[in-house]
Amino acid sequence: MKLLTRINDLPPELAATVTAEETAFVESLKAKGILPFAVTPFYANLACAAGIAPEIRRQFFPSPEEDRILPYELDDPLGEARYRVAPRLVHQYHDRVLLLANGTCAGYCRHCFRRSWTSTLQGFITDEELKPIQAYLVSHPEVREVLVSGGDPLMGSDEKLERLFIALRAARPGILLRMGSRMPIMAPERISGGLVRLFRAYRPLRLILHINHPQELAQDVRAALGRLIESGIPVHTQTVLLRGVNDSGQVLAELFRELLNLGATPYYLFQGDLAPGTSHFRVNLERALFIYKELTNLISGLGLPVFAVDLPGGGGKVHLHPGIIEGEETDAAGQTWYLLRSRSGEPWRYPKEL
Ligand SMILES: *Cc1c(COP(=O)(O)O)cnc(C)c1O
Repeated sequence: MKLLTRINDLPPELAATVTAEETAFVESLKAKGILPFAVTPFYANLACAAGIAPEIRRQFFPSPEEDRILPYELDDPLGEARYRVAPRLVHQYHDRVLLLANGTCAGYCRHCFRRSWTSTLQGFITDEELKPIQAYLVSHPEVREVLVSGGDPLMGSDEKLERLFIALRAARPGILLRMGSRMPIMAPERISGGLVRLFRAYRPLRLILHINHPQELAQDVRAALGRLIESGIPVHTQTVLLRGVNDSGQVLAELFRELLNLGATPYYLFQGDLAPGTSHFRVNLERALFIYKELTNLISGLGLPVFAVDLPGGGGKVHLHPGIIEGEETDAAGQTWYLLRSRSGEPWRYPKEL
C-alpha cells in the first residue's frame, strides 16, 4: 500500500495550507521519536474533496501542539503493561484478550492513544511470537474472544491474516475474533472480495471500525462497509470524542444515524485517553457529558453508543453518564481532578481540563 509520508506528497491544495511551523514540526518527528506522519492518498484527498475539511485534516496532519506533554500524560495511558500476559497479549477482562497483531497503520491518527507503541512500527506478529499466545489461550479456557488490534491488523496481507486466524483457532476452535481496524476509512479498497471471503471463512468474526466523523463515510467507504455487511460480517464502530473534529451532539448524531442506516452498530464513544501530546484533542469531561446528553436526545437508542473512558493507568473501561463525577480535588501542584470510580469500585482520578 502506497502511503504519503511527506508534505510534498499531499494533494497540492492541501500542501498549500501547511504552515512553516507545521513543516518544521513534521521534519522534527523522527528525531523526537513522535508518532510518524503517514496517510493514504484516499484519506488525504478526503481532507480536500470539497474545500479543506479541518475535521479530517486535524486527524492525520501533525500539529506542533503535540510537543506539549502534560505531567499526567502517560506512555501507557490504559495501563496495559500491568495486564500483559505475553508479548503483544493483554488480558484485563475475564473472558477476552487483546492481541496487538500489528504495529503499523495505513495512516497515523494524531490522537492515537497507543502512539508510544505505534511509533515503534512493529511488524505483523510472527509464528514464533504466536506460540506463547497459543499456549496462553489453551490454558485459559475462560477466554472466549480475541480482540485483534494494533496498529491496524489489516495492514497484514490476506495470507498473514489467515496464518494468524489458523493459529488462534488451532489453539481454541470457535473462539470469537474481533478485528479492530480503521482500514475501511483509510483505504476502502483493502476490503477486497478476497478479504471478505477470508473473514467469512473464519466466522465467528466481527469488525470494529474506528470512525470519527460523518465526512469519513465517503462513497467508497460506504461500498466497503456494504461488502462486509452484506456478506454477513457484523460491523460495529468505535468513535473517539475529539475537540475540533466531532465535539458536538449534532455531528455525532449524524455519524451514528448514517452508520445505523448502513447496517453498522455504534458501539463505543470514547473520552480521550491521556496519551502524550494529545491534550489539544481532549474535551473537558463535564462538557463531554453534556455533549453525550445532547446526543442522547437526538438519536434513537439503536444508534447510541456507550460513552466510556479507559481510566488512566489501569482503572479499566468505565461507562460514563451524568452523575459519574463524585467530586473534585486539587493537588499540591494545582492540578484539579475529577473523582470517579474504577471498574472495580476504587476511587480514581481523571484530570479536569479546559
Ligand atoms: C476495551 C478492551 C477490551 C474489550 O472490552 P469490551 O467492553 O468487551 O469492548 C478488552 N481488553 C482490553 C485490554 C480493552 O482495553
